[in-house]
This record gives sequence, structure tokens and C-alpha cells, in this order.
Amino acid sequence: MSELKRQGFATRAIHDGQAPDELTGAVNVPIYLTSTYQQEEIGKNKGHEYARLTNPTRDALEVSLCSLEGGTSAHVFASGMASITALCTMMKSGDHVVCSDNVYGGTARMFDNVMAKFGLGFTYVDTSVAENVAAAITPATKLVHIETPTNPMMAVTDIRAVADICHARGVELCVDNTFLSPYLQQPIALGADIVMHSTTKFLNGHSDGLGGVLVCTKPEHDETFKYVQKCTGGILSPFESYLLLRGVKTLAIRMKQHDANGRVVADFLTRHKNVLKVFYPGLADHPHHALATRQQSGFGSMISLETGSLANANKFAKNLKLALLAESLGGVETLVCHPASMTHAAVGAEGRARLGITDGLMRISVGIEDVEDIVADLAQALDAIG
Ligand code: PLP
Repeated sequence: MSELKRQGFATRAIHDGQAPDELTGAVNVPIYLTSTYQQEEIGKNKGHEYARLTNPTRDALEVSLCSLEGGTSAHVFASGMASITALCTMMKSGDHVVCSDNVYGGTARMFDNVMAKFGLGFTYVDTSVAENVAAAITPATKLVHIETPTNPMMAVTDIRAVADICHARGVELCVDNTFLSPYLQQPIALGADIVMHSTTKFLNGHSDGLGGVLVCTKPEHDETFKYVQKCTGGILSPFESYLLLRGVKTLAIRMKQHDANGRVVADFLTRHKNVLKVFYPGLADHPHHALATRQQSGFGSMISLETGSLANANKFAKNLKLALLAESLGGVETLVCHPASMTHAAVGAEGRARLGITDGLMRISVGIEDVEDIVADLAQALDAIG
């Protein structure tokens, strides 16, 4: 498949890492359910010793994800949070991280409540203003970690501008690309050193498996994260690796439909009387619309809307008939979440107020059902607010 390597995204999503099985010709990568591998003699094996180190299903997935993000190596972990935990092992006590102030609540919770205990320091800034990143970098800063668009306020950060600021100061940039997937955004091409994903979301696409990945660009990342997989063991299981291999085969076509449906739903929401504000970078009046248009190849299907109060949000949520009230995002089904009580509960009331995450804010992960059905469901649930 190497001659197809630089061909189209959809082709690579189906073929890279996913060559037919050499033994049987099976067109899907087998799920290798083994914890260990027979060795031919002492010190001689077929490239595998123990499943915490390597597993052929997981290896295939790492080749696939590396290709889709345009990196030099990829390392999969048991969840998105496990991959961010692994990312932190690049650093040592006394090192400092600058992070988007509007990241997934679990990311900030882990940084502040777990990693800070080991002497890492964290500063949160609005990275949609690139100068804020420059101002927050100190001599101890090793990493800038951003999410774009942010969760749930959909602010967009200029990846190239932030990468330039980082590189001028010898700092590395990691981009959480979960919301758009490599189909709609290519952070490494824009200068990022590392891309991370909660693969639980669009990459898997079917809400049936947790996972996380770090896609890297340097030999030292490859060495570090391979070693971390081996030493800490938070690796992705063969079965979930298989689910992801299957999921990414349809990533291109799913993302096209997510993007198309997202645009229609956002437009509909702007016209509903019970929606006070819509947060979606695809809308012409979004403050970062021009940047999103330049930096992304679509706007995706993550949309937040302001209903005005917790009571309104709850009426909306309770009246949904097709969309599901649930944490998470990126599945084929439309999912609606209440950030204040779900993804951003850990941020606290004060933190949420600072970020603009009100009790009336709802977030929609628009699925790939027929868009008329999605709009009809949202319309009747919004009408129920009164
Ligand atoms: N990053 C983003 C943007 C997320 O939305 C999430 C989870 O919602 C995570 C990271 C954490 O991923 P996981 O739930 O797979 O651990």
C-alpha cells in the first residue's frame, strides 16, 4: 500500500495499516487476543514479546492514525485521558505547561488535581488570542496544550501562530484534535509537534469504545511514548483497537455528513425564538469564523446553544425524542449534553462563570441521521420551552 501513502485521505483511512492478513488474506486486521508470544530461542522472537509492549492489532491502528494525522509515529492508550497522562510524562517536576482555558473539564481536573502533585505547573489562558500564549510562557515552560475549537464554547485558536510562538521559545505544541478529527483539521501541517485525540469520539464514531492517541513528529517522542506504554501499561486493548480500525475506515464519509448536518442545524438554531445564542465557528458572525475557514476544511458538528436558564435547558433536554441526552460526542447518533453538570462539572461554578459556561448552555454533537429528522426533533424540544 506504500504507493498509495500520499493519496487521498479516504483511501489512506481504509488502507494504511490495514493490509490484508498475510497468513489468511483476511481483509480485516485480526484481533490478536494474546498476552504473550512464543519465542524461538532465548533472545529470538518474531518481533513481539509481551502484549503490553506490542500487539499486531494495536500496531496496525498506530500506523493508520499516524498516516491520517501526518505524523512520524502514533501511540494509542486506553482513553483520551490516559493519552494526556502519557503526554505529561514528557516533563519532570518544576516544568510548566500553558493550556487553553476552555479545555475539556477532565483535562484541567487531571492537570490540577493529579499532575500538580508531581510538581508540574499549569497556567490557563485564552489561546484564541495568540499573544496570551506568548505572555504566559516562562523559562520553565515545556509544553503548550490547546484545544481548537474549544469545548464547549467553540473558540478557535490559530494553530500556526501559536506554533510559531512556541518554537521561537523552544516549547512544544500539542493540539487536542478531538472535535474535528484529521479529516477536518491537520494540526501537524500547521506546525503542531504532537496531536492528541480522545479516539472515543469521531475517530471511533460509533460510541462503542474508549481510547486515546498521541501522534508525534520527532524520534524522541516515539522513544518516550513507546517506553511509557511499556512502563505504565495504559495501552489500548486489541478489541478496542479493532473497533477503531473499523471506525476510521468510514471517517471521511462520516465527517462529510457530520459537517453538512452541523451547518444545517446551526443555521436552524439561529432562527429559533428560544435559542438566545449559538456557538458554531461555521456561522458568519462567529468571532473566529475567518480563522476557522482558513485553518479547517470544514466546521464539524459540535454546536453549543444558550437556552437562558437551567429550567429551559432541562425542558429542552427532557423533550428530546431522537437525540440522546448523554455525555460524549462524535458518534453517528445525535448527542446532547449539559456542560455545566457533565463535562465541566469539575471546573466549579466560578470557573464556569469565567468561561461563559452558564447553566442554560447545551452542547450538541450533531449525528449523521437524516438532518430533517434531527432538526424536527430539536425544534419540538425547543418549542417545549414555551
Ligand atoms: N479531549 C476532549 C476534547 C474530550 O472531549 C474528552 C472527553 O470528552 C477527552 C479529551 C478525554 O477523553 P476520554 O473520555 O476518551 O478519556
